[in-house]
Parts: sequence; structure tokens; C-alpha cells
Amino acid sequence: MDIIVLRPTATKEDIQHITKRLHGLGLKAQVSRGTERTIIGVIGDTSKVTEEVEDAIRAMDAVEDVMRILKPYKLASRDFRKAPTRIKVRDKVIGGKRLAIIAGPCSVEGRTMIIETAMMVQKAGANFIRGGAFKPRTSPYSFQGLGEEGLRYLAEARERTGLPVVTELMDPRDMELLERYADVIQIGARNMQNFRLLLEVGMSKKPVLLKRGLSATIKEWLMSAEYILSRGNQKVILCERGIRTFETATRNTLDLSAVPVLRELTHLPVVVDPSHGVGKWDLVPAMAKAAVAAGADGLLIEVHPRPEEALSDGEQSLKPKVFQKLMKELAPIAKSVGREL
Ligand code: PEP
Ligand code: MN
Repeated sequence: MDIIVLRPTATKEDIQHITKRLHGLGLKAQVSRGTERTIIGVIGDTSKVTEEVEDAIRAMDAVEDVMRILKPYKLASRDFRKAPTRIKVRDKVIGGKRLAIIAGPCSVEGRTMIIETAMMVQKAGANFIRGGAFKPRTSPYSFQGLGEEGLRYLAEARERTGLPVVTELMDPRDMELLERYADVIQIGARNMQNFRLLLEVGMSKKPVLLKRGLSATIKEWLMSAEYILSRGNQKVILCERGIRTFETATRNTLDLSAVPVLRELTHLPVVVDPSHGVGKWDLVPAMAKAAVAAGADGLLIEVHPRPEEALSDGEQSLKPKVFQKLMKELAPIAKSVGREL
């Protein structure tokens, strides 16, 4: 037994009663209230639940059905929740009709540059500002980010523009800082299977943007989402950012088929990051358009006012003009798949 589907008439007391019963079995209940039905996800080692117990729960008045989910990820699966999850971030929504366009530099490099970028991307139609303050760099000698100072500048950029802030958390010890400044916590590709970090953000109230690991299968990626969901945080956004293949013409191979595959497997919103996917700015617009056509809920795009001066990922960052042009070109594509910018 993994899911308990309640009748529309189920009361608060019924839910409490079932939750208590599950606690008695050493299990936890994850209550998910939908528009039509409330569903209880049963978390823990459900293999210990005997058929008799399952039948007893099924027999309760408030219970419509009891189901097993065969997939290893349960809370993330489409069987758990049929309707797509919409995640509210300040006055914006990720997973709704309007696409989430998360734009900004790879790293926050200074106060004026991030404010300048935020104002520019907002004018072009972006609805989130991104920028790393803690950077997962391959080399320990590369720019590692401005830390809290960078977070402060991001918060100032938000004040100026109203754009919610997406920024990466690398270390559970920085959780408090991120809670204070970020609107969406990014978990980078290199940390997709950092399970301690996942559990930490699973206890946060902030939405989490979970990037796909460099060599992670979709199943492994969903299991990582499950770590976060299992701790109670229901606000997980998946971000496809390219995977390692034998191909060297691009930085990674952007797996756009992940978008329709995830649509079938999960209710969680999916955004695509063509910047890290291809690694070259001139290839980004084509893949951004393809991602929207494939049904992505949004895009994460690196934009820098002067890419040639960037302290990280300059070669894949769009110049303001290129970003503005792309935003215009995306509009009819979004419309053709029933979305808007
Ligand atoms: C980034 O978003 O700047 C980043 C480091 O991405 P990834 O973790 O996908 O490499
Ligand atoms: Mn980057």
C-alpha cells in the first residue's frame, strides 16, 4: 500500500485517524489535497504492511481506494498525483500556462552587473533572475562566487525588479543564508545525488530547482526528487541541463526527450537549461525554442551584459540583444503549444 485515495466526503478527523494508524505501523503520511480529492502518500517501508492491514484501511468509510505504486519513486510519480503540480513563487507560478523564464548570469559578479542584468532580462520578458553566489567549479582555482555578498546583491536586484531569485545551494551549512535571500533553491547537476543536501532542502519551505546529474538516468533523477518530496517539501522543479555522451561538439548533450518522458512519469514541472546543455551561446536559441515546442514549463538561460568579461560560462551566455531577440521568437512557439510568455 503506497497511496490512500480518500472520498470527497472525508473529514479532517478521518485524515487524522488514518495518519495515526500509519504512525502506529511505523509509517508516515504525506497528505496531498487536490481540487477534487485528498490523497495520502504512505512513506516508509510499505512492504511491511500486510494485506490484512491494507484491507482494513480500505474498509474505512472515508477511504475510496488503496493502491500500490510499482515505480520506485512514489510521491514524484504521476500515479500519486494526476494533475500537473503548479508551484507558486511570490507572484509567479511555475507549471502554469505562462512559461517560467529564468535568466541571468552564471555567477553574480558584482552589484551593478546583477542589477543591470535583472532590469534588462525583465524588460525582455523574463520572470525570474538567476545567478550563482556559491559556484560548483571544476577547478578549485576558478572563481568560486561572492557568497553572502552575492546573495545580498541578488536580493537587491529582486527589490528593484520584483523578479524572484533562483540561486544555488552547495552546502547544507549555507541553508540558513539561502532561506533568507533566495526564492527558489537550485541544486546543481554535480549535487543531484548529494543525498544529505537533498534531505536538507526537503525540510525547507522554498521551492527547489533540481538539476539533472551529469550522468544521471531519468529514474535516478526522479529518485533524487523523491528524497526532497519524502521530507515534506512538495515544491520540486526538474531542470534538464544536458548529459554526458561521447559527443564533443557540444558541452553536453541536451536530452530534450526527457521533457515528454517526464510528462508521462511525473506531475512535477520541468524546465530546460539549454545554456549548460550546449555550452555555446550561438546554439542556445535553437535549443531554447525546441524545448518550448517539446512542452517544457520554462527555460533557464544564462545571460550576461558583457559575456567576454564573464568570470564563468561566458562562452555560453547570451548578450542582451540576442536574449531579447530570442524572447520575441519564442512567443509564437509558446502560443502554438498552448503556452504564453
Ligand atoms: C549553473 O546553473 O550555473 C550550473 C552550475 O549548472 P549545472 O549544475 O547544471 O552545471
Ligand atoms: Mn553556469
